[in-house]
Amino acid sequence: MLESEHPGTVNIEELKNRLILHELREAQLNADISKQDKLIEVLRLAEQRSAMLTAIVNSSDDAIISKNLDGVITSWNSSAERIFGYTADQIVGQSVLKLIPQDRHFEEPEILDRLRRGERVDHFQTKRITRDGRMIEVSLTISPVKDSRGVIIGVSKIARDITALILAERKGAILSAIVTSSDDAIISKDLNSIVTSWNDSAERIFGYTAKEMIGESIVKLIPADRQQEEPEIISKLKRGQRVEHFETKRVTRHGVLIDVSLTISPVLDAAGRIIGVSKIARDITDKKLEEQRKNDFIAIVSHELKTPLTSMRSYVQLGLVKAIENGDSFTETLMRRAENQTRKMSTMIHDFLNVSRLEEGKMSLHIERFSLPELIEEVVSEFRPFAPTRHIDYLRGPEVQVDGDREKLSHVLINLLGNAVKYSTEGSPVCISCDLERGTATVSVSDKGIGISEEDQIRLFERFYRVKDQGLKNVSGFGIGLYLVAEILKLHNSQIQVLSVPGKGSTFSFSLGS
Ligand code: ADP
Repeated sequence: MLESEHPGTVNIEELKNRLILHELREAQLNADISKQDKLIEVLRLAEQRSAMLTAIVNSSDDAIISKNLDGVITSWNSSAERIFGYTADQIVGQSVLKLIPQDRHFEEPEILDRLRRGERVDHFQTKRITRDGRMIEVSLTISPVKDSRGVIIGVSKIARDITALILAERKGAILSAIVTSSDDAIISKDLNSIVTSWNDSAERIFGYTAKEMIGESIVKLIPADRQQEEPEIISKLKRGQRVEHFETKRVTRHGVLIDVSLTISPVLDAAGRIIGVSKIARDITDKKLEEQRKNDFIAIVSHELKTPLTSMRSYVQLGLVKAIENGDSFTETLMRRAENQTRKMSTMIHDFLNVSRLEEGKMSLHIERFSLPELIEEVVSEFRPFAPTRHIDYLRGPEVQVDGDREKLSHVLINLLGNAVKYSTEGSPVCISCDLERGTATVSVSDKGIGISEEDQIRLFERFYRVKDQGLKNVSGFGIGLYLVAEILKLHNSQIQVLSVPGKGSTFSFSLGS
C-alpha cells in the first residue's frame, strides 16, 4: 500500500494513477501502441477529474475535511480554513479532536461505529471549536471513504457553519412569539394587497381565521366608502414612507364597522426593494366610544353654560356703563374685572364647543377674502383692555389680503396673544407682527416669558396637553388652546411653528398665502 506524505493516510487517486503509469510503461516496452493511446486517454481523464474535484472542494462554502480511522486529518479545504481558523499546514496530520469541544469527544467513536456499519451521517447538528476558542454551531454530513475492495479507510466530513442561521432562527422565533402574543392585529400582505400572514389577534379583531385570509385580498376588510385608502397607502409606501397611527374604519367578518388605528410599514428585501407591506391594526372602537361620550358631554355642558354666561356678560356691561355714568370708580373697577373674567369664561366655552365640533368633523370654514393686518389690529385693540398692564407691540406692516375664515383666524390670534401674556411676567413685552415675503404672509407672536423645553414643544399641540411644571400649577387652562390653533391652521393648509428657549421666551408663527 502506498503511503501519502502524511503518515497513515492513503490517497486513492494517487494509487490509481501509479497503477496506470505502471501499465503504460509495460505497454511502451511491448510497443503496444493502441494500449498506450488508451492508457494516455485514461490518465488525461483522471487528471481532468482530479482537477475538477479539487476545484469543487476548494470553491465550496462548506468545510470539506477528510481524516483517517485514527481521527487524523488528511485534507482540509479553504472554507475549513475560513470557518475554523487553521491553515491546511497547521492542521493536516493533527487529531480531529482539536476541533471538538471536550464535552463532545464521545461523538467521535459513536460516528465511527455508525460509519463502520456502512451508515452515512447526514445533517448532524453539533458544536465545534475554532482556533481562537470560539464555539460555533455546525451541521455535519459524514461519509465513509472506501478503497477499491470496499474497505473503509477514512472519513470525509462536510461541515457547514450554521451559527448565523441558528441566531437568525432564534431571533425569528422570538419575533414570531411577539407577533403571536400581540394584542394588535399584525398582518402582512404583498404589493397586490394579498394577505401573506395573519396573527391570532387579527383573527380575534376581524373574525376571519388565518386559513380564510391568507391568499385573500385585504380589501375585504375595507368598507365600501373607504376603498380608495388602499391604493393611496400602497403608493405612499412605494415612495418609502411609513404610515403611522392612521385612524380609520374597517369591517369585520360579521359586517360590524370597527374603529382601528393603523401603522403600516414597507417590507424590504436584502437589496432594499419593497416586496410587501406589514400592518399593525389596533382596535380603538372602545376608545372612540369613550371619546364620543366625552365630546357629547362637553358639547352639552358648554352649550348650556353659554346662554347664562351671555346674559351675565350683558348685565356686567350694563353695570359698568351705569358705574361710569355715576362716577362710581370702585364699582367700575369691579365691573371691569367681572367683565374680564366673563370674557375668559366665554373664550373657554367657545374652545370646548370648537373641540367637540372638530372631533365630530363638523368644523367648517367660512372662507372670505380680508385684510390680515386689519384683522390683527382689530384683535390687538380688543385684547388690550383685558391686559391693561401689558405692552402689546404691533406695528402695522404692508397690506396683505388673504383667503380664510376671519372669525376662526381671529380666535387663533387671541389664543396666541392670551398665552404670550399668560406665560410671561408682568411688564415684559409681547410682540405681534405680520411680514410679507414672496406672496406669503407670516404672522408671529413673541414673548419674553418662561419658554418651553424641546420635549414639551413636540407635544404642545396635542389635545389637553399642558406642561407639567410646579411653577405653572396655579395658571389656569385646559390645554386645548394650542390644539385648536393647530387644527384651525391645518384646515387653512397652514401649520403652527414654535421657536422657544426655556427662560428666554417663545415665538409662535404661521403663514398664509396671499
Ligand atoms: P392652556 O394655556 O390652556 O394650558 P394651551 O393649549 O394654550 O393650553 O397651551 C398648552 C401649554 O403650552 C400650556 O399649558 C403652556 O404650558 C404651554 N404654552 C403655551 N403657550 C406658551 C408660551 N407662550 N410660553 C410658554 N409656554 C406656553
